[in-house]
Amino acid sequence: MTAEARDVPLLELQGIRAAYDAIEVLHGVDLVVPAGKVVALLGPNGAGKSTTLNVACGLMTPTAGKVLVAGRDVTGVAAEELARRGLITIPEGRGIFPNLTVRENLQMATYSGRPLDEVEEMTYRQFPRLGERRSQLAGSLSGGEQQMLAVARAMMSHPDLLLLDEPSLGLAPLIVQGLFQQLGSINKEQGVTMLVVEQNANLAFAIADRAYVLEAGEIALSGPADQLKNDDAVRRAYLGY
Ligand code: ATP
Repeated sequence: MTAEARDVPLLELQGIRAAYDAIEVLHGVDLVVPAGKVVALLGPNGAGKSTTLNVACGLMTPTAGKVLVAGRDVTGVAAEELARRGLITIPEGRGIFPNLTVRENLQMATYSGRPLDEVEEMTYRQFPRLGERRSQLAGSLSGGEQQMLAVARAMMSHPDLLLLDEPSLGLAPLIVQGLFQQLGSINKEQGVTMLVVEQNANLAFAIADRAYVLEAGEIALSGPADQLKNDDAVRRAYLGY
């Protein structure tokens, strides 16, 4: 991404509408992800969070509106091309290869030309648990370990922007806390910008700079995370107090 693009948002969605067959599920979504920040996308089941992420990463073409990456209109550009430009997605369900070992999964991430031992060294330094389990089939790892592996694989591509779809799904609370701490440090220490779809607002607010609340295909609320987490409606609906 170009130097002059530094002051413009890394990702911007403008007036996004999206539909499955004839049924519109996003009705004009505006969303901004500034460079270097973590943005959370919250909302109830079926609100359209995953659809928003799929539009942002090029897996789905909107029926109206624009997707801008570093100020460039990339609406309709395929996900693989956006990945080459540094926009990497970790889908719900994590996108790892369950029948390959941890090491083989990492090997699949070395197509960028980086030697496997370097990839392994980097990964196991950041996620020692994966080092202990390098010969284990990925499908037999715990949910938290699988999520670590997915994050580790994504990091091999040196993403500018990481899109994560419900990283906490199905994970025990303690594991999730560790995972979010790691995501927070990847953002702070490596400067990776993130858009995180999360139903667990408490977790999302712990690392997010800004948040959006999506309800029935529309942005219902948005603002700095500190402000939103004190909003009465957000507390009642998403924080449980
Ligand atoms: P969840 O938190 O439950 O994953 P979500 O906020 O991510 O929900 P989406 O998965 O984006 O919501 O779904 C938005 C709406 O679009 C829902 O009504 C859903 O049923 C519908 N939808 C999602 N995927 C498809 C599809 N492939 N075909 C038809 N309808 C779909």
